[in-house]
Amino acid sequence: MSVEADPQVLAGLEAWRDLPVTQQPAWPDAAALQRVTDRLAGLPPLVFAGEADALRGQLAAAGRGEAFLLQGGDCAETFAEATADNIRGKIMTVLQMAVVLTYGASLPVIKMGRMAGQYAKPRSSDTETRDGVTLPAFRGDIINGFEFTPEARTPDPERLLDAYHTSASTLNLIRAFTTGGFASLLRVHEWNRGFTANPAYARYEEIAAEIDRAIRFMAACGADFDALRTVDFYSSHEGLLLDYERPLTRIDSRTGLPYDCSAHFLWIGERTRQLDGAHVDYFSRVHNPLGIKLGPTSTADDALRLIDKLNPSAEPGRITFITRMGAGKIRDLLPSLVEKVTADGRPVTWVCDPMHGNGITSASGYKTRRFSDVMDEVAGFFEVHRALGTVPGGLHMELTGDDVTEVLGGAEEIDDAGLARRYETLVDPRLNHQQSLELAFQVVELLRR
Ligand code: PEP
Ligand code: MN
Repeated sequence: MSVEADPQVLAGLEAWRDLPVTQQPAWPDAAALQRVTDRLAGLPPLVFAGEADALRGQLAAAGRGEAFLLQGGDCAETFAEATADNIRGKIMTVLQMAVVLTYGASLPVIKMGRMAGQYAKPRSSDTETRDGVTLPAFRGDIINGFEFTPEARTPDPERLLDAYHTSASTLNLIRAFTTGGFASLLRVHEWNRGFTANPAYARYEEIAAEIDRAIRFMAACGADFDALRTVDFYSSHEGLLLDYERPLTRIDSRTGLPYDCSAHFLWIGERTRQLDGAHVDYFSRVHNPLGIKLGPTSTADDALRLIDKLNPSAEPGRITFITRMGAGKIRDLLPSLVEKVTADGRPVTWVCDPMHGNGITSASGYKTRRFSDVMDEVAGFFEVHRALGTVPGGLHMELTGDDVTEVLGGAEEIDDAGLARRYETLVDPRLNHQQSLELAFQVVELLRR
């Protein structure tokens, strides 16, 4: 029998409309938006409440040091790049990193894509000016087009439907790849062997050889069970565009509780986590596990007030704090934040985003990051948690499966001139496939110190 939603719960899902809201587009036609959101509300959910609950349990384990989260994908997915090759490349990259991290941390790794819905972007300015022409800023494919023309940059609600369908086809492929044998441990391990065979990565051969021995040992013992052939792969995106998240929020027939069925995990960004704002109110009412980005200006008091609002019942796994302080600041800022939140006693899972605090503009004008800064923030994250006796629960990465050149450095030593070779991101720079694997191997080195 299915449980109906309480009318008050349903009314609560509209409360955000009367609260201060940031980072939303100015839709030109309210009636067109209404038609689209009505249509979305009638389409099937993209994920199921039970899957979100399973993830919540795993994130709780990560908070206790019994699992480790690896969340990765584009800064901004695009409709044009939702191709089989691109999706496969990102899944492969996350799975390859996960094998290395599983071995290095001796923990199960929770695999999550910034995928199948990461289409809305917060921007520092509502407009962009080029050669004296001012147009609305690009806010992600779910809202407007990247091309610098008035037509493309005008928000178009039809894009919400494109986002839904592109998410559905991406998820369909993710589910096929992760259950159909493609993701088997042996295969993923073979891919990693290809990586370490490249002389540029010879430094990691020893760890790769250890993993190889461990896998051979398992095989010799006759380990051949489903868990080695299929993997759980969760979807996530920033819960930013409330006109999309609301119609995809559904009442769980088992419990009568609302879940945002656009993804398993939603995070609230650094720019939209105002305590009295629309985003915090909205996500306080859905039961998915939630991430919250915490940048260098976050105080422990901010973090505790966010817990009051988003996890009053102190449910483990409900809240993941994704810190993004910057390599130069993490060792100064993270300790007191973690200490005070830990002293409060309500459980949270701590994850490091080493990308968003480390943005720079290169001499030739590219928005980029240094691989060495990214690694340094990850190292700082482990150091701080180790010193406090708290748990480093995972990593949140911007990466792609392709050989793009968007982040400086790594063993291939991408330099400023090299960025021009294949700089493809529409928003933030991503680690390429090799840099992503290199990061995973370096994390194993850090874990051994
Ligand atoms: C992002 O994750 O792409 C992003 C915009 O992050 P933040 O909210 O941390 O700036
Ligand atoms: Mn980004």
